[in-house]
Amino acid sequence: MSTTRVVVTMAVLALGGFASFVVASPTPIEQPAAAVRGAAQLAPPLRYRTTTQVVAAGDNAGPLLRSMGAPAAELLAGAGTALNNIFPGDQVHLDWRDQDERPFRLRLAHDTATTTELVWTGTKYTARKVPVPYRVAEQAAAITVTSSLWSAATAVGFSAGQIIELAKIFEYDVDFNTELVAGARFRLVLDRLTADDGSERIGDIRAAILDNGKKQYVAIRHRTHDGTAGWYGKDGASRRKSFLRSPIEFSRVSSGFSTGRYHPILHRMRAHRGVDLAAASGTPIRAVADGVVTKAGWAGGHGNHIELRHDNGTVTGYSHLSSIGVKRGAHVSQGQTIGKVGSTGQSTGPHLHYEYLVNGVHKDPMKAIVPVQKPLAESERADFLVARDRVLPLLETATELAVAADASENSTAER
Ligand SMILES: [Zn+2]
Repeated sequence: MSTTRVVVTMAVLALGGFASFVVASPTPIEQPAAAVRGAAQLAPPLRYRTTTQVVAAGDNAGPLLRSMGAPAAELLAGAGTALNNIFPGDQVHLDWRDQDERPFRLRLAHDTATTTELVWTGTKYTARKVPVPYRVAEQAAAITVTSSLWSAATAVGFSAGQIIELAKIFEYDVDFNTELVAGARFRLVLDRLTADDGSERIGDIRAAILDNGKKQYVAIRHRTHDGTAGWYGKDGASRRKSFLRSPIEFSRVSSGFSTGRYHPILHRMRAHRGVDLAAASGTPIRAVADGVVTKAGWAGGHGNHIELRHDNGTVTGYSHLSSIGVKRGAHVSQGQTIGKVGSTGQSTGPHLHYEYLVNGVHKDPMKAIVPVQKPLAESERADFLVARDRVLPLLETATELAVAADASENSTAER
């Protein structure tokens, strides 16, 4: 696909060069097509080249651009936030005129319906989003999770960003680190996008059902009149709740919550008044709810530590961070990255020690957090019901997407 785009770009640029050549000639005459082609070959050759790098796990834009020989600082200055979120599999294309020291254009091809472009204007780079032309068709599809959501969704062509989006739909219901059972099944109505060259990929998710063990969750996407898209239950209840199930999107509990208990051998109290979430150093930590930062700094054995105060006497704590991204007194919103996983303080390896307190008493966050729902406004109901009654029957027809890669991984995981 990218090769095709490069060829098209070069053809247009070459034609542009030729057109000015014709206009400059003293006696412009109507030329037959064959003669035009001949003249084009006589025009001085314009040379362009494109270099491409596929984003790997852990890549950041700055080092990646430097490795491609590009002026990273200039590109990042013009990018705003456009290069903040690059995902494995994204492609960075740099378009160069042969003699220039900097690319005249950067194209970041995400697995989305737009390409991000940074174009050199002569003094700086400016960012813009360019739609990728696609035909859109709706598809009902199912994914069965045998080992992890990540492997199951990757196997059927979901990008990292789309898996996170899928997890976000149900993040108030299920902690994907601990609560997704083997055999959990997602049924989705999604957009299937087909490009001019026939390549296909997955677009937006419109509706989803998750069957997780004995529990079923239904989520329907609805865009309210003010333009905000959100997820709603069958009855129009919002699925956005006051607390996220976990401050980390994908990890596992390496040590659970326990109340104070006297240890007979060590002769001391061995309470673990939080849960430990294992995750790689540098993994973003999200505020589980809107709140105010009441602590942000070094806290002895807790290392780099953040504490947030939320509504109704609730507090959350985040310890052993490699970096703190918020200041004391700041307001944070749910889902906002507040710091990164580390191993500072009394810690044997990278993990997040996560605490949840109600009126000063530590509780097990995995059990005690009971979400609250906000309903859809009355003025939105009619539109919502039309959309719901269209997609629910489609969800019933969902057929399994191929899960070849996941099945092979699972055969070893189950032993
Ligand atoms: Zn801990």
